[in-house]
Amino acid sequence: MITQQDIAFDQQHIWHPYTSMTRPLPVYPVVRAEGCELELASGERLVDGMSSWWAAIHGYNHPRLNAAMKNQIDQMSHVMFGGITHPSAIALCRKLVAMTPAALECVFLADTGSVAVEVAMKMALQYWHARGEPRQRFLTFRHGYHGDTFGAMSVCDPDNSMHSLWKGYLPENLFAPAPASRFDEEFDERDIAPFARLMAAHRHDIAAVILEPIVQGAGGMRFYHPEWLRRIRKMCDREGILLIADEIATGFGRSGKLFACEHAGITPDILCLGKAITGGTMTLSATLTTRHVANTLSDGAAGCFMHGPTFMGNPLACAVAAESLAILETGAWREQVAAIEKQLNAELAPCRESPQVADVRVLGAIGVVETRAPVDMGRLQKFFVEQGVWIRPFGRLIYLMPPYVIAPEQLSRLTAAVAKAVNDPTLFR
Ligand code: PMP
Repeated sequence: MITQQDIAFDQQHIWHPYTSMTRPLPVYPVVRAEGCELELASGERLVDGMSSWWAAIHGYNHPRLNAAMKNQIDQMSHVMFGGITHPSAIALCRKLVAMTPAALECVFLADTGSVAVEVAMKMALQYWHARGEPRQRFLTFRHGYHGDTFGAMSVCDPDNSMHSLWKGYLPENLFAPAPASRFDEEFDERDIAPFARLMAAHRHDIAAVILEPIVQGAGGMRFYHPEWLRRIRKMCDREGILLIADEIATGFGRSGKLFACEHAGITPDILCLGKAITGGTMTLSATLTTRHVANTLSDGAAGCFMHGPTFMGNPLACAVAAESLAILETGAWREQVAAIEKQLNAELAPCRESPQVADVRVLGAIGVVETRAPVDMGRLQKFFVEQGVWIRPFGRLIYLMPPYVIAPEQLSRLTAAVAKAVNDPTLFR
């Protein structure tokens, strides 16, 4: 189905995420996916440890998700959202409003996580503009990741996102050190001092704090203490500064709670969702706000919120998202994620014995093995494929975030492959 010529064409003409056209990394042709397995063109099957980057939480080729999409296609796959609404958008937004904290009432649908972040940032800027007190800065942590568009990049870790490359073009935001207090340890009071100082020094310039609650994902796979969020919520309330929670990665159960903010019992003013919202089938994101934020910015000089993408509220994506959320509503994910957490803890623990390993940490259905030296990406990826698993490490991080429906034997194949890898020094630089 895929020939050597096809692969050669791919390497010569098609960009893949974060790759070079002159030195492209190998790509593996996948022709089918079912449950928790990816099928390569060669017929080999790989157990999926990535959920296609946090998205495919219910597994691939899910009959309910497929049926939702087929039904919607027979009605219409797309219609513009300007001046038009449709049943799938309404069904989805009803569910989103119901399942997120009560204060979050107004939903903006967009197409990717990065755009959900742009929308959230724009909302914060318009909010302050509408109050006649324009503010232009965002306060965030180092080691954060919020997407690859320019607004989102401006709040990503300055080193990981190469802010030096975009200097002069990228807005300059405020970066506090990443939280050091780990999720599973004592909260260290000293941790928050630099953040508090930055907020105090710029309290009249900061439109919003933006952060990934509890789990800093692509910027380091770090899990931090919930007390951080409670303190930040209080500080924001005191100063009237908005709090944007980017739950694009953590949303919909991944961290063991439906939303990671629940670990701290806080509600953000603006919430960004994406990835798993459609069960990993279609690209869709949502930005939710409180009525106060929505009304304030709506009553400003612009008279409306200044955003409206072509594929806003795409019916096909909304239909499958509503079905993905209906599957979550059964509540089965709670036991599934808890069982994955238990198994990851038990089966990744021996990795700590390896001299290659700096840290092992698990939260919900996320297992991370941090190594001392960066992995040799090409070699390690090949090693994992030979072991019959799909795991995509980066930097010094080998991590697992399987679909919630993974069987214990499948998860053991993933953890065994990781344990074997960290005992092979030739796979590291
Ligand atoms: N925010 C977070 C926390 C993410 O993990 C990601 C994607 N990895 C994004 C935003 C950007 O989402 P997308 O890739 O869909 O634009």
